Amino acid sequence: MSEMHAFRDAWSWVALCVLLSLGIASCQQRRVEHATYEMVQTMDRDHTKKDVLEFPDTVEPIQKSEEEWKELLGEFRYYVMRRKGTERAFTGQYWNHHADGWYVCAACGLPLFSSVDKFDSGTGWPSFTRPVREDYVGTERDTSYGMVRTEIHCARCGGHLGHVFEDGPPPTGLRYCVNSISLRFVPRERRQKKQGP
Ligand code: FE
Repeated sequence: MSEMHAFRDAWSWVALCVLLSLGIASCQQRRVEHATYEMVQTMDRDHTKKDVLEFPDTVEPIQKSEEEWKELLGEFRYYVMRRKGTERAFTGQYWNHHADGWYVCAACGLPLFSSVDKFDSGTGWPSFTRPVREDYVGTERDTSYGMVRTEIHCARCGGHLGHVFEDGPPPTGLRYCVNSISLRFVPRERRQKKQGP
């Protein structure tokens, strides 16, 4: 009987240790994400001050090595934009953001979405009914995680944005579901080289 007790005690200790280490790992992950978002916000604020929006007639692809992207984007943004990662719902900068302006690609600055087409999807990710221009956002069939979805990316640099679904509101019936980290917001009044739509 006492052997049985000792056995059960040992397993309780193992279970406790596993739970504790899971808890610590999750806290650390949250701290890393928080620190990363603060860094991204500071970086983006500095960048946005210098922004001049351009709406090119034709999209010329930008190519960089993985090392260059890592250097440019930082760890978390690189993970989402170049490794097709997903930020956690309700954690990004823009899911609950209602200012008037443009959402440009965080990697190359191409204007991708307008606040005019933004709507509250309740998903915890910024959602739009359409891009600024059809040819600014590329699509690709995505069969990961046992689902068939349509992946969306910046047509200029290939940066992963999120997915597009056919359950959006009028006028398009589409829902462009985008990671906040893949976007950078530029207020409407910012000077533009070419007038956008
Ligand atoms: Fe881009």
